[in-house]
Amino acid sequence: MKNLWSEEAAQQWVVQYAPRWGEPLALRTYSSRLLGSHPELVLHGGGNTSVKGEVTDIFGQTIAGVFIKASGVNLAQCLPTDHPALNLNALQKLTLLDTLSPSAMVNQLRLNLFDSGAPTPSIEALLHAFLPPVFIDHTHPDALLTLGNQPDGRQRLTDALGSDCIILDYIHPGFELAKAVLAAWKAQPNATGMVLLHHGLLTWGDSARESYEATLALVNRAEQAINAVAQKVLPVPTPAALWWELAPVLRGALAVHAEDSNRSYKSYIVRSLDDSETLSLLHQPDAAKLFVSAPLTSDHLIRCKPWPLWIDNLGEIREAVQRYREDYHNYFLRHAASLEGSVQPLDSSPRVVLIPGVGGFVAGESAHLADVARDITRQTLRVKTDIARMGSYCGLEEQHLFAMEYFSLQHAKLVRHETSGLQGCVAIVTGAAGAIGSGICRRLLREGAHVAATDLPGDALDTLVQGLAKGTPGRIMGVAMDVTDEVSVAQGIQKIVQTWGGIDCVIINAGLAHVAPLASLGLETFRKLYRVNVEGTLLLLSHMARLFERQRTGGDVVVISTKNVFAPGASFGAYSATKAASHQLARIASLELAPLDVRVNMVAPDAVFSDGARKSGLWAEVGPDRMRARGLDEAGLENYYRNRNLLKAQVTADHVANAVLFFVTRQTPTTGATIPVDGGLPDATPR
Ligand code: ZN
Repeated sequence: MKNLWSEEAAQQWVVQYAPRWGEPLALRTYSSRLLGSHPELVLHGGGNTSVKGEVTDIFGQTIAGVFIKASGVNLAQCLPTDHPALNLNALQKLTLLDTLSPSAMVNQLRLNLFDSGAPTPSIEALLHAFLPPVFIDHTHPDALLTLGNQPDGRQRLTDALGSDCIILDYIHPGFELAKAVLAAWKAQPNATGMVLLHHGLLTWGDSARESYEATLALVNRAEQAINAVAQKVLPVPTPAALWWELAPVLRGALAVHAEDSNRSYKSYIVRSLDDSETLSLLHQPDAAKLFVSAPLTSDHLIRCKPWPLWIDNLGEIREAVQRYREDYHNYFLRHAASLEGSVQPLDSSPRVVLIPGVGGFVAGESAHLADVARDITRQTLRVKTDIARMGSYCGLEEQHLFAMEYFSLQHAKLVRHETSGLQGCVAIVTGAAGAIGSGICRRLLREGAHVAATDLPGDALDTLVQGLAKGTPGRIMGVAMDVTDEVSVAQGIQKIVQTWGGIDCVIINAGLAHVAPLASLGLETFRKLYRVNVEGTLLLLSHMARLFERQRTGGDVVVISTKNVFAPGASFGAYSATKAASHQLARIASLELAPLDVRVNMVAPDAVFSDGARKSGLWAEVGPDRMRARGLDEAGLENYYRNRNLLKAQVTADHVANAVLFFVTRQTPTTGATIPVDGGLPDATPR
């Protein structure tokens, strides 16, 4: 491992942060970021660090403090505020106690913060407070887990690290571990560091650099011991099936019935792990035995569940998931009595599914959370393979796994920033780059959905996706799609499935308008509208019907219709007739797809010309002409349309998006119905 410490960079941190936070915390932040930048030391919020120093209280008195990393913060991106200050003497006094429950411990941590609004420190906070050294670094290095997670792990670690490194048996994180760490340190205060078996490493020092370099020195020794065992090149097998072909079935099987929501299922976003390295690792002899085992470190458990699901038989995916749920439930029953108070079982779906010849399927509440679990899984497969080369894997025992999984503090790390009705839901919007489409995308994102914005390739789509991605990274993707081309539709759907595992909501919005009286309406023009408005709707409906059938978790389709279906206008023959056909297809779909719990509804807006700077296709077709014909400017034309409805309302893309949301969040048991969004046009009222 490369030593990344740079005196120059360290000085920059001191210059920037020491005036406000003091030099120790400035350097603490710098070296924490260095630790976080080594993926072989910590992944996604794992590991924690601390520094002891002084805090000035409201009376101007100086008090001994300890700055400990907040729970769930990623070391690689931490700032001084991510190490809240606690009263050191008050925490050290806790060593006088014999026991301290997890909830009492959290209470003590929060009571002893200097800022009552600060985030809760790490669940390992007490060991940072109890240990006397100034700087303390705690990581979960792959190399130490490789050596330690073997039946003779203690011996292997001693051989590699030397007897001046302390090795402590596994103890559940919290008060007991903190006390044991302190006792071990007191017995050997000159030790080079301390390995916590099946968990990680502690190092310390008088300076940030000393503690960081102590971590590197120990990890380098462990890596040398591992590298001394010859590497084996594994062959890459021929794929048994394509990842995206299986993903909808698997994602459907992983979804759980939602009892507390209008939507029938709570689905996960499923991310792929199907590179050639993964395929070859899954192809090893005895791979199932090796990989269906405890996580490398207890910290990974909340992301990946206690063990992954292994599936050999592609014809029995749903049965395999069901068996996993039963096994998980039995595991819960075996250990539930060991918990404080009564506890409900967590969701029993696996988060990691491994299928030889296909790859890994990693599930999370969002693409971001699934990616965290995917990175952990990739690392786990590599480390367990290294272990198999050296000997055999020996992970944490089941009761420890359970204690960690149901340890309330760990779950605090997973608290979502926002939960909403469409979390875990994947939506596709066609014609997304237009005025109505962009409004719908924006609204679905705000409600927590993952949104695939599709349209013809070009600037309009690209700028939409770039703009929306700013507030919702990882939840919006642009997909170039021509709805009149079946290959393009199929490929677009495939791309979305490949990225997020499936699709739950379909907003058919792509449409084309044209103004011409029948006397001069050429057949070619009519066919052009027909292809987009009718064939485009049909292609989406038929491809999605097949996908819904494979997912078996229902679905919602909303077709953006028009008031012209009910009240056609002169010179709108091609538009009104083709939109009426599209509307009728949607009604047929509502009949055909109801047995699959798929609802198909329509929204019929009138005269939405723009969404901010984004003009609608309808505007491009009729706006300039009408303005000229009536001698109006843009605002005048909007007024004209506003004045023709009962409510004198200007209809916006947001209004249309609200109606879409009403349907996809399933506020009422409704299918085959139309909501007019037109300010009240008596002629156009659906009947
Ligand atoms: Zn840890």
